[in-house]
Amino acid sequence: MIPHRFDYVAPDSLAGCIEALNTAAPAGGDGEDARVLAGGTWVLPEMSRAESRPARLVDLRRAGLGGVTGTGSGLSVGAMCTYAELLASPDVLRHAPLLHTMAEGITGGWALRSQATVGGSAVSARPQSDVPGALVACGAVARAVGPEGERRFPVAELFAAAMHSSLLPGEVLTGFDVPSTAGAGSGYVKLKRGGSSWPIATAAALVRLGDEGVCRQVSLVLGAVTATPLRVDVDAALVGTTPGDDGVREAAHLAGAAVDEPWDDLLAPGSYRAAVAAPIARRALTMALVAARTTIQETRA
Ligand SMILES: Cc1cc2nc3c(=O)[nH]c(=O)nc-3n(C[C@H](O)[C@H](O)[C@H](O)COP(=O)(O)OP(=O)(O)OC[C@H]3O[C@@H](n4cnc5c(N)ncnc54)[C@H](O)[C@@H]3O)c2cc1C
Repeated sequence: MIPHRFDYVAPDSLAGCIEALNTAAPAGGDGEDARVLAGGTWVLPEMSRAESRPARLVDLRRAGLGGVTGTGSGLSVGAMCTYAELLASPDVLRHAPLLHTMAEGITGGWALRSQATVGGSAVSARPQSDVPGALVACGAVARAVGPEGERRFPVAELFAAAMHSSLLPGEVLTGFDVPSTAGAGSGYVKLKRGGSSWPIATAAALVRLGDEGVCRQVSLVLGAVTATPLRVDVDAALVGTTPGDDGVREAAHLAGAAVDEPWDDLLAPGSYRAAVAAPIARRALTMALVAARTTIQETRA
């Protein structure tokens, strides 16, 4: 049960949602600011525990922000896109298989996957979440709309600090543009205590090889080991080489060395997270390399 009174609105347009977020709630509620409601899997438990007491909930469900579509050069992922929608989309498999793999590993069963949204996870900016690191690795661009209009920015800038997004007051995150990574190999590794626990560390890797097997491009992002996703520059170890074990080991070493302020919580101390960064980076890069080589072989066949 939610122990305070609040106004609930579900405008049928984005403009209506922005307006509802930026005008005072009618008298009668006893809460504080207006708050966006997406899937509600964080908002509603927080309100039930009286950790959050919004005067108004602005439900985005009718604002037209759902789903994922192919754009020719990649994907447009709506902020209200659920994990289930990511998993069902052939466009995601084609243009951003990393997002498909990430969504496959979300716990909570189909009820959670069909309710929780990609935008809700991103705005929550929890260090342990899967979504932030995966979006950063894909090079996504975030879109947000507020009273001053629309702005677009690299998704990494959305994750300002642990549990804090960089959205401005009264802004709604509307979605993401994800460039196509078709032809690249991807790898996603997550270390957890048990099947249903939060990740202790994640590694997302993308590797693009030329026809002759030379590495053209690599992207490596660690999640849950620092307060915000950590992009590691491993170009020096891999780009321009025909990657083998030595190059991957060197890249993984760079990943471990990059963790200078590890995230600490009840699941695992920072020292543990720093220690596992290199091994999971190595596994993710190895997976991505194998996938990239397989893609080349399939193209030739
Ligand atoms: C049982 C369970 C298992 C889970 N397992 C995993 C897991 O394995 N991996 C993982 O990473 N996460 C996991 N989660 C977390 C889950 O991914 C998030 O709870 C979910 O994505 C949040 O999305 P939501 O739509 O429910 O957000 P909501 O609860 O509706 O909103 C979350 C926050 O974001 C704000 N917000 C939401 N959308 C917008 C928007 N478009 N613009 C502006 N502000 C917005 C809300 O105001 C609120 O502050 C799990 C959660 C549960 C309950």
